[in-house]
Amino acid sequence: MNKGLRLSEKWFQRGLWLIAVVFALFLIGLGGLIVDDLPKVEQSYRLEDFLDQAAAGPLKAEIARIDADTKAKGEALQTARQVVAAAAGDTRQGRQSFDAWVRTRTATGNAGQDAELLERTRQMDALVARQRAAEREVEALDQATSELSRQRLQATSQLNALNVEARTKLGAARRWQEMRVFGIRLAFTLPPLVIAGWLFAKYRKSTYWPFVWGFIFFALFGFFVELVPYLPSYGGYVRYIVGIVVTLVVGRYLIVALQRYLARQREVEAQPDEQRREALDYELAHSRMIKNICPGCERPIDTADATRNFCTHCGICLFDHCQACSARKNAFARYCYSCGTPARPDARATVPPATVSGDTMPPLGSGGSLSNPAPDLTPG
Ligand SMILES: [Zn+2]
Ligand SMILES: [Zn+2]
Repeated sequence: MNKGLRLSEKWFQRGLWLIAVVFALFLIGLGGLIVDDLPKVEQSYRLEDFLDQAAAGPLKAEIARIDADTKAKGEALQTARQVVAAAAGDTRQGRQSFDAWVRTRTATGNAGQDAELLERTRQMDALVARQRAAEREVEALDQATSELSRQRLQATSQLNALNVEARTKLGAARRWQEMRVFGIRLAFTLPPLVIAGWLFAKYRKSTYWPFVWGFIFFALFGFFVELVPYLPSYGGYVRYIVGIVVTLVVGRYLIVALQRYLARQREVEAQPDEQRREALDYELAHSRMIKNICPGCERPIDTADATRNFCTHCGICLFDHCQACSARKNAFARYCYSCGTPARPDARATVPPATVSGDTMPPLGSGGSLSNPAPDLTPG
C-alpha cells in the first residue's frame, strides 16, 4: 500500500483498491446466499402444533354438535311459536263466538239448548287446551335452547383455556427458534470479524493487501449490516457490545501505535542527519516535500523561501547544492535537476569551495547552510 510517485504505480494502486471492493462485493454476495439459505433448516411453527389434540378434538366435536342442535331447536321454536299464535287466534275467536251465543241463550231463555251449551263449552275447552299444549312446547324448546347455549359456553371456555396454553408454548418455541437462528448467524458472522481484525493487524500492508481489505469490508458488512434483520429483541445488545469491543480494541491499537510512532520519531530525530536521510523512503520523502511536510519529522515546512535549507523543527537538511554545478536542489533527489550529476551523500548541503569564493550564487552561501552545525556540513 505504499504510495508511489510513478504515474502507472498510482493507477495500479487505484486498480487494486477496486479489486478490494469487488472482492468484498463477491464475498458479501456469497455470504448473503449462505445466510439466506439458513432459515430453511428451521420449520415454522403453528398454533395447532401445540394444541392438546386429545382434549381439544372432543371439545370441538361437542361444540359442532351443540351448534347443529341449537340450529334445529331454533327452527322448531319458530314453528312452535307460529302454532301458538294460530291456537291463540282460534281460542280468541272461539271465545267471542261462545260469549255471543251464551248472551243470545240467556235472552231467549231456551232450555232446550243445554245440550248445545255443553257441546260448545267442550269445544271451547279443547281450543284452550290446544293453545296450552302449543305454549308448553315453546317453553320446552326455550329451555332446551338455553341449556344448549350454557353447554356451548362451557365447552368454549375449556377450548379457550387449551388455546391459551398452546399459545404460551408456541411463544416459547418461537423465541427459542429465533435464538437458534440468531446463534447460527452469529456463528457465521462473528468469526470472519475476528479474522478480519487479525488480518488488519498483521497483513493490511502486505503485498496482497487488496484481498485483506476486501475481506475486512466483507466481515464488517456481514456483522453490522447483514445480521441486522435477524436480530432478536436482545440482539441489539450483542451488536452494540461487539461494536464497543471492536472500538476499544481498534482505539487501543491506535493509541499504542501513536505512542510507538512518537517514540520512534524521537529516536530517529536524535540520529545524525545523514543516517536519518538514509533511513527515509525515497518516494515517501518526495511526496512529503511536495506537500510542504518535513520528510524527517512530518511537521509543516516552508519550501517557498529559497533561503531555508533545513527543517526548523528537527534540523534535517532539505535543500543542498549540487557538487558539480552548485544549483540549489532537493536534498533527497538522486540526481541534480540542472546538470544530472548523481548526488553524493557526503556532498549534501555543502557548498563547493570554488563557488563560495565566487559571486555567482546569490542564495546559497549566506546564513542557513554554512552556519548549520550539522556534522555533514564540513566540506568533503
Ligand atoms: Zn523536520
Ligand atoms: Zn548540478
